[in-house]
Amino acid sequence: MPGKINGSRDAQLCLLLPLLVLAVMLGCWAAASAKATPIPTRIVHAAGRIVPIPAAIPHEEGDMVDRRIVPNLRWIAARFPIYVTDGYSGPLPDGAHAGCRGCHVKHSDHYNGLAVDIVALNGRGGCDRAWRGITRLARWAEPRQGQPRAPFRWVGYNGDAGHGCGDHLHLSWEHARAPQFQLAEWVEVFPVRRQGIDTQPQPSTPPSGVTPPAGPQGGSEPGPSYEGEPRGGVSVVQSGGISARGD
Ligand SMILES: [Zn+2]
Repeated sequence: MPGKINGSRDAQLCLLLPLLVLAVMLGCWAAASAKATPIPTRIVHAAGRIVPIPAAIPHEEGDMVDRRIVPNLRWIAARFPIYVTDGYSGPLPDGAHAGCRGCHVKHSDHYNGLAVDIVALNGRGGCDRAWRGITRLARWAEPRQGQPRAPFRWVGYNGDAGHGCGDHLHLSWEHARAPQFQLAEWVEVFPVRRQGIDTQPQPSTPPSGVTPPAGPQGGSEPGPSYEGEPRGGVSVVQSGGISARGD
């Protein structure tokens, strides 16, 4: 009988529909979970200054950055096997020159001291095991190609010409627009003392040659102390938006 058949179909639909709704809900939940959690960030308006990269952050001799990103670099260096090959690129107040000349694109964040180029610590050439930690760092900073997470403005790695595993990772911090060789009025950073930030990019195994620190409550990170220090040789300019990329 048609009526019976229809009735049975209706009953099946009544059973199936909630299951379908549940499946869709679970799918949405899974998609939301897979999406990268935002990194908590804050804007630093304190005066910047181009300073030598501290010894705790493995780097090429003479490399310098805006001091406002130093706490973030310390934090990264304590968790990922990084070796900084270039930071600020430009003239210094004493007439000397820091960083690599002619290595960076026009409007590069390297000209403001707010970018670093990174290779694998103890890498032996090519995209070898030593780069695993760098790839993990790149994925943390940019879970999806072309969509860096704040506070990173531009991440150059696999998929970006002249960057990638075995070559180098570029990290730029978001900042107020500033002409080259001048300090930005503000810089966006992640607060290294925040509990939330500590857990996110934690490597599954400590990178070789790097001792993981005690975490943000362990007191290993002195944190920035900007107040009262004089400004550096490059002047501060007013803010604004910023252009596309800054390798
Ligand atoms: Zn770069």
